[in-house]
Amino acid sequence: MSSELVGVGIVSGASPTIAIGRTHLLAPSELETRHYAIERKDVMHEVARLNNAFSLVRAEIDELAERVAPEAPGEVRAFLDLHRMILDDPLLCDEPRDLVRNRLINSEWALTIQLEAVCKQFEAIDDEYFRSRSEDVRQVVERVMNALVSGRGTTVALPPKPADGERLILVARDLAPTEMLRLKERAEVDVAGFVTEMGGRNSHTAILARSLGLPAVLGVAGAREAVTEGDLIVLDAEAGRVRIQPEQAELDRYRQRLRAQVESRIALRKLKGKLARTKDGIAIDLMANIELPEDARDALEAGADGIGLFRTEFLFMNRDRLPDEDEQYEAYARVARVMKGKPVVIRTLDIGADKVLTDKARRSLGIAAGAPTVESNPALGLRAIRYCLAYPELFLTQLRAILRASSVGTVRILVPMLAHVHEVEQTLSFVARAREQLKERKAKYDARVPVGGMIEVPAAALSLPAFVKRLKFLSLGTNDLIQYTLAIDRADASVAHLYDHLHPAVLHLIARTIRVGAKARTPVAVCGEMAGEIDLTELLLGMGLRQFSMHPSQILSVKERLFTLSTKTAAKFAARVLRADDPLQIRKLIEKAVARPVSA
Ligand code: PEP
Ligand code: MG
Repeated sequence: MSSELVGVGIVSGASPTIAIGRTHLLAPSELETRHYAIERKDVMHEVARLNNAFSLVRAEIDELAERVAPEAPGEVRAFLDLHRMILDDPLLCDEPRDLVRNRLINSEWALTIQLEAVCKQFEAIDDEYFRSRSEDVRQVVERVMNALVSGRGTTVALPPKPADGERLILVARDLAPTEMLRLKERAEVDVAGFVTEMGGRNSHTAILARSLGLPAVLGVAGAREAVTEGDLIVLDAEAGRVRIQPEQAELDRYRQRLRAQVESRIALRKLKGKLARTKDGIAIDLMANIELPEDARDALEAGADGIGLFRTEFLFMNRDRLPDEDEQYEAYARVARVMKGKPVVIRTLDIGADKVLTDKARRSLGIAAGAPTVESNPALGLRAIRYCLAYPELFLTQLRAILRASSVGTVRILVPMLAHVHEVEQTLSFVARAREQLKERKAKYDARVPVGGMIEVPAAALSLPAFVKRLKFLSLGTNDLIQYTLAIDRADASVAHLYDHLHPAVLHLIARTIRVGAKARTPVAVCGEMAGEIDLTELLLGMGLRQFSMHPSQILSVKERLFTLSTKTAAKFAARVLRADDPLQIRKLIEKAVARPVSA
């Protein structure tokens, strides 16, 4: 009988999202150890045991670090460094010794007390990324505990090789990066993916899974209970599902999907190092949209030419204390560093509509308690640049943080939802004020950070000359442009069938923006979902678009499509589409063009 478990699916752009294999249950290394009081004469012995355990784990991590291949993903070394740092932190290595001496308790007990104290400190941190680092502390302490109990380093039980040649899917309570690396290193162990009960989107297990290109489903409650050793399971990381002992017909369907994924990804991955060009040799920039600093790795991994849209509002949501300048600076600088000089377009806060701050965070801005969180027309209300201009301190703090990040990379500022020229002018004076404030403080920043604007409101698309005069670049937010042009709330399911990116009015606004931008020599990008849809690549290229920004997982497919297209044929095709006045006819033209083998 087949059954199913659900969790958080983790996929890495260039790897298959499905894994099929036999389960191997990793024994839990839970901290169930004996706690007892000791006599004063035993203190030296306990402290020596503790020191010995720390030394064993240190040696183990150092040895792993030495063996990390130079071509291994950067995160691998970063994790080992992090675990080494945790291990050397006086809070973890000195405090338990004092507890043994002062409270006369055994080492395991002292270590458990200290672990809980340190984890509590982590868990009180507002930032989700840092909060989830308590997992790393636990993992490090587990290793020390194992070493304490066994008197030797951690060993990962060797999974038996399935007799039928299937690959292995590891099922564990949690997987420490060091354990994953040990298993990954062993050539005879063919790991296809893993399922854990702990962990979420931001956990190190997730980050490492992405960088090692292994699909995973994390945070699956009761996973170890639900499977038995050697079960055949299918892991569908895209859907966040684990199918246990699926029926033959279902298994065959999954095998077929997996084969197709492997084939197309092998072909796609070959494109990673290649510059995006059309068939007639025109260079195109393919940039990535990200929501959190850690997504920048995915962008780099997918071969992005830069970050075309960093949606910074995700740093502000789901928390009661808004990020201060330093916290924001760290986040922006982290992305700038990861991108190693490639451009990073940081969008100022696009809060409002469906992206709201918590009540407590709103109160910290001076919004009265009891003020409605959702106004009657939130998408048309105080959102994005309107919000920032209404809360000058919020805006200035973010601008200073972005400007400071320009000292470690190539940073650009992008302003969302502009409709009025006076909003552009006010924004530019805010940027000038933020620069002045930094200058007074003698803080480092690049004085030439360009300021660009999003074209996502028809009013802006219809008054472009005034915009290009004042802004250094434009980015078409087609998701909102469609919503505001067609008067369709993008979050309202009851009108979703009317949300049509092929409506002639939308296409004309896009084409016009690209045309006016080109004439004024103001670079124009598209960063809405349309940029990542390969069926629309030829149309946008034909309208003159040379910069596309999309989710990292779409970059290689769009690149592959571009290699088959010529700008001349695309321009003729776009002209034909723009002459059509019926979305149905437009759809037919696009379908026909996509079916055409390779453009001449
Ligand atoms: C858009 O509107 O197209 C866009 C990219 O911004 P968001 O989806 O974040 O509103
Ligand atoms: Mg938008």
